[in-house]
Amino acid sequence: MSGSACPLCASDGGELLHRARSWRLVLADEPDWPGLVRIIWNEHVAELSDLSESDSLDLVAAVRQVERVLRDTLTPDKVNVASLGNQVPHLHVHIVPRWRDDLTFPDSIWSRPETGLSGNISSSDRAAAALARSQSTALRIPALRLALVHSLARSSHSH
Ligand SMILES: [Zn+2]
Repeated sequence: MSGSACPLCASDGGELLHRARSWRLVLADEPDWPGLVRIIWNEHVAELSDLSESDSLDLVAAVRQVERVLRDTLTPDKVNVASLGNQVPHLHVHIVPRWRDDLTFPDSIWSRPETGLSGNISSSDRAAAALARSQSTALRIPALRLALVHSLARSSHSH
């Protein structure tokens, strides 16, 4: 997959919050996972090790900055940082706020929810808690959006 066949070359890949010289930050459209953001490398490369050392350091610095803002704004129990790209092999990093009562904790957000179709007694409680969690997080997304935009604009002199 490359060029026009790649959705991350064809579009921003989400709501654009910041565009740096070599990467961009987008807010994902994932109703079950409010606060999930992605840092997407602008150029079509598949793997982290395709980047120069200096570009890799820029990417890690961006991940760290975004993670810090996300922690300060949403106070999650944990932050997950993941680069998969199995479906879209264009380098991007998911930065995901996690809570102990979210849908799939302590598994990855891509894991099948334990509560799904298992039908056990606790599953509806778990699903209700996860729904309440995602709804309360969704209310804080405007604050997160502003904090990310401001934080990255302040540091953009280096990009
Ligand atoms: Zn691409």
